[in-house]
Order: sequence, then structure tokens, then C-alpha cells
Amino acid sequence: MSPIDATGDWTAGANPDAPDREPREPSSGRARRRARESGDSRPGLSGLGDGELEKWLASRGQPAYRARQIRDAVWRQNASTAADYLTVPAPLRSLIDESFRVDTIAESEIKVADGGLTEKTLHRLSDGVMIESVLMHYPARGYAGPGKPLHRERHTLCISSQAGCAVGCPFCATGELGFGRDLETAEIVDQVRHAARRVAASGSHLTNVVFMGMGEPLLNLDRVLESVAILADPRMFGLGARHVVVSTSGVVPGIKRLTALGPQFTLAVSLHAARDPLRDVLVPLNRRWPVAEVVAAAREHARVTGRRVSYEYVMISGVNDTEVDADALARLLRGDLAHVNLIPMNPVAHTPWQASSPERVAEFAARVRRGGVGVTIRANRGQDAGAACGQLAADRAGEPEPSVVAHRRELIVRESETALRGSRSAEELPADLEAAVGKERDR
Ligand code: SAH
Ligand code: SF4
Repeated sequence: MSPIDATGDWTAGANPDAPDREPREPSSGRARRRARESGDSRPGLSGLGDGELEKWLASRGQPAYRARQIRDAVWRQNASTAADYLTVPAPLRSLIDESFRVDTIAESEIKVADGGLTEKTLHRLSDGVMIESVLMHYPARGYAGPGKPLHRERHTLCISSQAGCAVGCPFCATGELGFGRDLETAEIVDQVRHAARRVAASGSHLTNVVFMGMGEPLLNLDRVLESVAILADPRMFGLGARHVVVSTSGVVPGIKRLTALGPQFTLAVSLHAARDPLRDVLVPLNRRWPVAEVVAAAREHARVTGRRVSYEYVMISGVNDTEVDADALARLLRGDLAHVNLIPMNPVAHTPWQASSPERVAEFAARVRRGGVGVTIRANRGQDAGAACGQLAADRAGEPEPSVVAHRRELIVRESETALRGSRSAEELPADLEAAVGKERDR
């Protein structure tokens, strides 16, 4: 929806980038407690979609061709201040500065890991909220002929769609933080602009974007779709839509909306267990949309779009890595246009669990493969930089009370023991998650 009405004024509430939008309800999560009222109500310039900049310019009596100059400054030149928009006259630069945040990221802190192949970035947004993105470099490899690598070099950016997350998966640092707030469109795409600047400085360009940072993208789907449209637009970032992955913990109505849009990007589903009792614990959203419903929606997505669905499966020792789990997974996905990625759990604070051993992961992969489903074992990136999703932001949010940590561990152990005996969780959805899910269901 356009944030600008026919007169060129910002429409209240039509877009979260609009200055006078309603603040959302406060949440009980640590991330939300950290969020301060924004002191800066200007919308983010890079979040303006197709035609919106033109409308704004027209409302200010500016010629339409300025749109291209501004867009080139934002996307080609990737300038971080309006003062650097050299082709734009000074009075218009001042007007842009008064009306928009030219960069929605106030500050970034980078931690390098894996000998420079992984760069984990903690961003502070203009209201003080902290989010993360991770840039992963994959050098060219293999030989397909002189000067022709089998696999070209790739630079993949993992971005956040929300500050914190309401889903609360117990192995995820973001889940422990709780829900902070939805990101605005510009805050999503500015993560890409920042990383693109760093990649360009080394003479390359960003090739892939994955929504696998903080947050559940399908619970902020309007903003995610706006940012994908901007990233895919050749006049803006120009990333092939096929080079975008959206990962979900299983928001079924969201998957159905994506399916209706056709083949826009790759869908990844965070499965982590093929059995409901266990998935109720590992991905609490399963209590609302169980395994069969999630997989049915993903299967339909593959059928309609012709695109293979990726299933993410975090391997946790003694919890979801048994032969029974491997067989259940193979039975669930056999015959589907699907591929499983096994990811040994990144160590995070405050869980009682460990990653499965490399031998266990290999045995599990072999068994699933024998069961007729394609599997890849994914290497963990950036463990030495606290690369588990949300870990840097969690560290920054401060250590929770020891009694809260002890209670959380006890609950995880109790719930997973119940699950391993095969009983479904009797726990209600937490209030934050219930609210987020309700909003999606009532659309
Ligand atoms: N909320 C979405 C996307 C962000 S999480 C989702 O869950 O799909 C992106 C991926 O990181 C998910 O597959 C998630 O399960 C995984 N992840 C979270 N914590 C992890 C950890 N400690 N170790 C390994 N993977 C983790
Ligand atoms: Fe949220 Fe994804 Fe983390 Fe689960 S794994 S808490 S859905 S960010």
C-alpha cells in the first residue's frame, strides 16, 4: 500500500514508514523493554516503493526526472547522507533531509569470523533498537574449464525482519529475547545497502539475500514483501528474485499468501522435527499450525511455483537426532519437491542442549537420504563471532536474572521430556505470540 495519498501527504497508518503511525502494544520481551520511543519520525527514504518517490516529488513541485537521480544516489552510488547526492540540487537535498531518514541505521559494529569469510554486524536503529545481519563470503571453487570455476563466488547476506521474535524457539537467542518490534521496509533494505557497500569496496557485489536473521518474516509479511520488491527492482537494488530466500517457522496463512504471489523467491521452512510433540517444543508455533499443515502448505507452494522448498533442521544432541526422527522426516517429505538442510545447533546461552556430533549428523543424513529425501549438511558459520541468530543482540541486552534463566532451562527440559515420551504440549501460546498469530489469522 502506498504511504502517500493522492495529495502527496503521508497517510497515517498506511505504512509503518509513515511518521504518524500508531505505536504497537508494548511487549514483555527483553528486546521490547530495550526499545525506546523513536526520537526520529521521518520515514526511511530507501523504503519508498515503485512510484512513491515520484508522488512525493510531484507534491513538492519537483520534476519527475529527479526520482531517477535520487534513486541512483540511494542505490547505485549507495550514499549514506543526502549531502552526497551530488546530482541533486542543494535545496532539494535539504528537503530530502528534512523529510526522510536517508539511512535508518544509526550505528554498526562488525565482528569478523572464519578468517574473514563471515562478518557479523550489530546495527543500532534510530530508536536504539538493536538488530543483526550476517555477511557470508563464499569464494569461487571447482573447475569447469580455464578461468571458469564450477561454483562462482557468492556473497550472501542474512538479514533481520523484526527486532526480536515472538515465536520463542528454545534453541534460538532471538527467541529468548522476545518480540521487540516489526522492522520498517527501509530498515530491512538498509541492512542490504550497508553490506553492499562493504562488498563493493572489495570489488565484488552482493549476490544473495536470505531472511534468516532476527524475527519471523511471515509475521511482518507486508514489510518483507515491500522490501523484496525494492531489492528485486532493477532501478533499485536489482537482485534476482531467485536469489532471495525467505525462511519461516511455519506461519501457514503467510505461506499461502506467498504461494498466491507465484515464484518470487525460495521458501525455506524451519522444521526441526517431523513429529508434533517434539516440534511443539522446538518451534512453539507448531501448537497453532502443526507439522502436517505446514508441510501441506509448503508442498502446495512447490506445486504452484515449481520451486523446491528447503527444510531447515537444527540438529540437537539426543533431542531430534535419533533414528526414529530421521525415519519420520524421510516419511514426511518423500516424493516432495523438497530438500533438507541439516544444521548442527550453534551453541547459545541458557539452553540445556548441545549440538549433535558430526558423526551423528552424518548418520542422520545418510538415513534420511536412504529414505528418499535429498539432504545437505550445512557448516556453521561464525561461531567465534557469536553467530547464532540474535546472540550479539542478546549479549547487548544484558544478562537476564539467574532465576529467569533457571526457570527457562527447567521448562525446556520438562517440556522436551514430555515430548520425547510422545505427548503433545499442553502449554498455551505465550501472549506475544498469540497476538502476532491472531493478527495474521484475521487478515
Ligand atoms: N524465524 C525464521 C527466520 C529466522 S531464524 C525461521 O525460524 O525460519 C533462521 C534460521 O536460524 C532458522 O532455521 C532457525 O531455526 C535457525 N537457528 C536459530 N537458532 C539457531 C541455533 N542456535 N543454531 C542453528 N540454527 C539456528
Ligand atoms: Fe524466531 Fe526463527 Fe528464532 Fe524461532 S528460530 S525464535 S522463529 S527467529
